[in-house]
Amino acid sequence: MSADVIDGKAFAANLREKVGGFAAEFEKAVGRKAGLAVVLVGEDPASQVYVRSKGKATIAAGMNSYEHRLDDTASEEELLNLVEKLNSDPNVDGILVQLPLPDHLDEQNVIATIDPDKDVDGFHIINAGRLAVGQDGFVPCTPLGCLMLLQDRLGEDLSGLNAVVIGRSNIVGKPMAQLLTAANATVTIAHSRTKDLPEVVRRADIVVAAVGRSEMVKGDWIKPGATVIDVGINRVPAAEEGKTRLVGDVDYTGASEVAGAITPVPGGVGPMTIAVLLRNTMVSAYRRENLTLDK
Ligand code: NDP
Repeated sequence: MSADVIDGKAFAANLREKVGGFAAEFEKAVGRKAGLAVVLVGEDPASQVYVRSKGKATIAAGMNSYEHRLDDTASEEELLNLVEKLNSDPNVDGILVQLPLPDHLDEQNVIATIDPDKDVDGFHIINAGRLAVGQDGFVPCTPLGCLMLLQDRLGEDLSGLNAVVIGRSNIVGKPMAQLLTAANATVTIAHSRTKDLPEVVRRADIVVAAVGRSEMVKGDWIKPGATVIDVGINRVPAAEEGKTRLVGDVDYTGASEVAGAITPVPGGVGPMTIAVLLRNTMVSAYRRENLTLDK
């Protein structure tokens, strides 16, 4: 048996196109484009790539992208002042501060300064709280993207399904578990202290792996027919000397012999993150202008 491949790239492209449609309607109704501000501190090469692709995708969707770059020696006061300026800028609907920040800056402090109603990354404690109690807010992009892929395959209501989320980070594992709970799945959160992880995973109809360890989840851990969402992005040496390739947290070859469906890496969860970021920005823009966003 070979698992169906969940094509996150195609799903994300479709979502981006939909956002583009809403962006055009928004501009017609309000007389300005929706806007996303991205703040990058320092020269981290991976962060530079992410910020560039977020900017490009924002413009491609018909929104304004405001990029702010600060030197890696920037003080916390300078960064907080910039965030406050963006909070009060009426043309900015979403604010994202690219993480990680240089060591001398306190990430929690910076995130806490972002207006929760412009926090399209969903990292502000107010948005974490809203998610926990089931109120409308912003949900972190990666887990929300995972939920969209799961519901596209399994339906909106996940009643009766056992889900195992491996990883309990604030940006992926925890919000993922809350989203699955809200969708009526029966959820187990596993982490580095979990005893007999393979046995825990074997009970799961839905597996979400967000660990950061290459190909850790093996094929014989997977229940036949399960849906497997691989969040991991790990760079490993490729067969050709000096080259690298990306792998997930799941042994794709082994797992696809057993699973019912699985996301590939790359091309699964990865493309969903930016698409959901654009979607969250659009939701923010509509809310801020008191417009209704028809799904
Ligand atoms: P973190 O490092 O913050 O969290 C990793 C989690 O995995 C922790 O909860 C940790 O447990 C758990 N863990 C570590 N080792 C084991 C183990 N041996 N067995 C069971 N659990 C273990 O990572 P993130 O949540 O930020 O990211 C996870 C992965 O997702 C990474 O590969 C990252 O690159 C990728 N990612 C991908 C995104 C995308 O756009 N596709 C976006 C964000 C992340 P404990 O809490 O006990 O330490």
